[in-house]
Amino acid sequence: MSSQPKLWPTPYGPITQRKIFANLLKDIIRTNKCVYCSACASVCPTYAIQMLDDVPRLLGVCIKCGYCYYACPGTEEEGFQGFTDLKYIDMKVFGVERSERFGVYKKIYVVEEVEDDNAFPEEAVLKIILKYGMENGYWDAVAYAGRDEPVTEGLLSYQVVGWKSRPSYALEPSDIDNMKLKVFTQPPTILGLRGVIEELKGGFFQGVEVPRVALLGPPEHIRSIWRGRLSWAGHTKLLRTVVFMASYFHRKFFQPSKIQPILAKKGVNLSNISDVEYLSNSIRFKVDGDWIEFSYDELKPGINGAIEDAGDITGEYADVSTGRVEGVEGVIVIARTDLSHEIISRMLDEGLLKPLEFDEAYIKSKLNGLYGGV
Ligand code: SF4
Ligand code: SF4
Repeated sequence: MSSQPKLWPTPYGPITQRKIFANLLKDIIRTNKCVYCSACASVCPTYAIQMLDDVPRLLGVCIKCGYCYYACPGTEEEGFQGFTDLKYIDMKVFGVERSERFGVYKKIYVVEEVEDDNAFPEEAVLKIILKYGMENGYWDAVAYAGRDEPVTEGLLSYQVVGWKSRPSYALEPSDIDNMKLKVFTQPPTILGLRGVIEELKGGFFQGVEVPRVALLGPPEHIRSIWRGRLSWAGHTKLLRTVVFMASYFHRKFFQPSKIQPILAKKGVNLSNISDVEYLSNSIRFKVDGDWIEFSYDELKPGINGAIEDAGDITGEYADVSTGRVEGVEGVIVIARTDLSHEIISRMLDEGLLKPLEFDEAYIKSKLNGLYGGV
C-alpha cells in the first residue's frame, strides 16, 4: 500500500490538506481571531454555517469543500502567504507595491461633509458614491450590513436585536438614500452579499449573466473578499460578483453579547438606543433624548480584539475608502483604483462632491500617523 499523502491540486501547486470548517473553528474562531465578516457563512454551499450571536456555528451538513476556510481573512494556507506580507498582497491586488503606510492609492481628495442622519460622515460620502455608481451603470446592487431589515432571513437565519448590525442590500438608488449605516456592533457584511445574490439569482446562480455588486464594509471585511479571491478556493462565484469595494477608516466594533451587560449598567440596551456617535476616546448613545457616554476603557471587554489587531486602518484594499482625521476639516477620500478615481473625478466635475483645499503632504503624514500605535 502506498504511504504517499493525498495531494489536492491548486493554482499554487499541490497541497496536502484541504482545510474545512473544523480547522476554521480551531485556528480562528476558538482563538479569538474572528473578525465576524460572515464570509465563511456566505460561501458555504450547503448553508451549514449560521452566524449565531454573530459567531459562525456549524449547524448543517458539511460536505468538506473547504470554501469557508479559504475565504477567511485570518487563515493561512500552503503556498499562500496571507496578509502577513502586505507588499505581496499589494502586488496581487494592485500590481504595484505601496509607497505609503496607508497603502496603494491613485489620488487623495478632501471633500465637504454630506448631511445624513443615518450615516456617519465618512459613510454619508460613500453612500452618494455608491448611488452615483448604480445610477451610472457601474454596478447593479450594493451589499452591506447596517440597521435595515435583514434580507437573508429564511435561507440564512439572522437574529435581530434592537440596534444590532444585520446583513442587507440595496437594489435601487433610492434604497441607498435610506441605508442605515450607523452601527457599532460588528457588521456581518458578506451575508449582505449572499443575500443580494439570492435575491437576484436564486442562490448560487447559474448561467452567464453575473450580477455586479458594490460592497460596503469595514477594512477587515474588504480583506475577506480578497482572501477568498486570492486563495485556491477563491473561484467561489459569490466573491467574483463584487466589482467595487468601498470602505471607511477603522473604527471599534463591539460584540453584542459582551457589550450588552456593560451598557445595561447605565440603562442602555440594544433596543432603546435612538442614535450613536463615536468620539475620539469614547462612544455615546442617545436614549430617551439624552446622550449617555462610555469611555473605550469602560467598553474594553466588549471590543472585538481581532478587529483591533487586523491592523488595516484606512481600508487598504478597497477601491475607495473615506475617513475623518483630527485636525482635518471635511472627509478624506482615498481613491486607490482607476475605477474609483474615474467615478470620483466625474462626481467632482458634476458638482456632486464638493472639494476642499488641502495640503497633500500634510494629509499623507496624518494618514501614515494613524498607524503609529499599530
Ligand atoms: S460545506 Fe464547505 S463551506 Fe460549508 S462548512 Fe463544510 S467545508 Fe465549510
Ligand atoms: S473572520 Fe469571517 S470568515 Fe473567518 S471565521 Fe470569522 S466570520 Fe468566518
